Amino acid sequence: MKFSVNEHGYYGEFGGAYIPEMLHPNVEELQEKYLDIIYDESFQKEFQNLLQDYAGRETPLYHAKRLSEKYGVPVYLKREDLCHTGAHKVNNTIGQILLAQRLGKKRIIAETGAGQHGVATATVCALKGLECIVYMGEKDIERQAPNVARMKMLGATVVPATSGSKTLKDATNEAIRDWINNPVDTHYIIGSVVGPHPYPDMVARFQSVISKEIKEQLKEKIGTELPSHVIACVGGGSNAAGAFYHFLDDEQVQLVAVEAAGCGINSGMSAATTQLGKPGILHGSKSYVMQTEDGQVVEPHSISAGLDYPGIGPLHAHLYKTGRGTFLSATDKEALEAAFELAKLEGIIPALESSHALYGLNKLQFKKGDVVVVCLSGRGDKDMATYMKAMDTNKI
Ligand SMILES: *Cc1c(COP(=O)(O)O)cnc(C)c1O
Repeated sequence: MKFSVNEHGYYGEFGGAYIPEMLHPNVEELQEKYLDIIYDESFQKEFQNLLQDYAGRETPLYHAKRLSEKYGVPVYLKREDLCHTGAHKVNNTIGQILLAQRLGKKRIIAETGAGQHGVATATVCALKGLECIVYMGEKDIERQAPNVARMKMLGATVVPATSGSKTLKDATNEAIRDWINNPVDTHYIIGSVVGPHPYPDMVARFQSVISKEIKEQLKEKIGTELPSHVIACVGGGSNAAGAFYHFLDDEQVQLVAVEAAGCGINSGMSAATTQLGKPGILHGSKSYVMQTEDGQVVEPHSISAGLDYPGIGPLHAHLYKTGRGTFLSATDKEALEAAFELAKLEGIIPALESSHALYGLNKLQFKKGDVVVVCLSGRGDKDMATYMKAMDTNKI
């Protein structure tokens, strides 16, 4: 497995665990135990049962005929939008809550920006009856009221982060401070393939059910398990990591990651990390980071909250650097176009994040015999306010 993490937590030159001394006991416990726990038979049994009966897996692989006609190539949508809570994030939070239980943890912490990961975490804490504390920037709490209400209804305590820019970065700092102070009884659920080793690998393994199912479903539908392209959007990179995972060593399959270009890559309001970033340390691992000359993290921008992140998981940094992955980007406007196109052609309203992946269809050249899979990471209910505004201002 050329693209798997090595025993030190690196993908090529990226990854590792760059953490304060005081976090070493927590992170080392995870590093030592995670593989034994998640490949234990009783863990796998409970994980598979919950993925099936609670999250609603397997999710369909849908042959989108009208979309296929438009692009002149068979397009299949992996319907993560049909998962419980509306996106792929729950695959990971189910895995991590089972891990936390087996580590004997009683208390769960998480940080969230737009609230999607906070909701997925609060959901599984309710499922398991564990205490849930979600750190969220004060500004994000104001901007994301519906998700704050969901978390509270699910029994979570939402704690405002009031320092700095009062957004995701500050919420992350608060969560880390909490974890340092509660090393014995608390597990920190990280929501993407980011953070110190073993989080990127652990989250990728939990999300890898996506590509496992794609292979089985394609085999059944078209007689081969290998498409020509798999396309996914990348914020931190967890739905993409899950959609790519079982194809990493099938080098005839082109793995296409679509980042958020925001108002345009060179507009100063973008989140296209591989295009704008340089190697650096963010949230405990080495990867590409959008930063100034003197290493200050640059504030990203994207119309979709889930892609509004100044870094990218270390697996993706490695896929970019080695050329195994093709990295494209879509602007806010292009993502909106793709969302309205899917709604009208297929009767599916996608999440704004997933719409970036869909726009990738416009940027690729297909040839006869190609088969394309797009990971439809989530549904668009949460984005209706943005879609309504786009219709009102005739942007569409
Ligand atoms: C959070 C989110 C993303 C971005 O996260 P990744 O870790 O990059 O997958 C993408 N799509 C949806 C629907 C999300 O909610």
